Amino acid sequence: MHRLVFATNNAHKLRELGEILKGEFRLLGLSDISCTDDIPETGNTLEDNASQKSYYIWDRFAMDCFSDDTGLEVPALNHEPGVRSARYAGEGRNSDDNVSKLLSELEGKSDRSARFRCVISLIIKGKEYLFEGIVNGKILHERRGVAGFGYDPVFQPEGYDQSFAEMDSALKNSMSHRGRAVQKLVRFLHEEYPHLPDK
Ligand code: IMP
Repeated sequence: MHRLVFATNNAHKLRELGEILKGEFRLLGLSDISCTDDIPETGNTLEDNASQKSYYIWDRFAMDCFSDDTGLEVPALNHEPGVRSARYAGEGRNSDDNVSKLLSELEGKSDRSARFRCVISLIIKGKEYLFEGIVNGKILHERRGVAGFGYDPVFQPEGYDQSFAEMDSALKNSMSHRGRAVQKLVRFLHEEYPHLPDK
């Protein structure tokens, strides 16, 4: 089977994608290729960061690979936290701090619309392809639910009355930004690269 590196240390994401691609690709995480580097993410956009991670692997390992980067974009906050979503409340702060900061920044604002946007950069045979997934929704006034991670307790997707943290993972994945970007990636691989050599 053809090997494909997913430039992530997140075991949950790796398992999820490994399931989807099984039978067609042998998905490897960073630990599988003995990459313990702290891969830089210094871009100003999600596209830049996803690209930067993929090229890091391609340049050093010359292996087909992909990376993802996600941001929460809130129009009333100038589309913040965006590319800074993981460190919105500052370096060394956790998701709960990020959520608290988001709720306090939105206090008194009537527009609570928001979207998650995920960008995947795939490099295959040295050529890069980008895939985007978006889910629209709104920021709740308080946390609801305990599942998921990050901003899930305060994000309610359009058309649902539960937050992401009140959904089971299958329901969330069926509509999430990452789920949608991954569906595009998988469709592309199926259509364009159905018969890559074993290596
Ligand atoms: P990453 O690029 O997937 O590491 O995501 C960057 C940051 O966006 C994370 O640290 C989370 O704060 C947030 N984030 C990404 N995906 C999700 C999600 O599905 N739910 C909630 N927060 C997320």
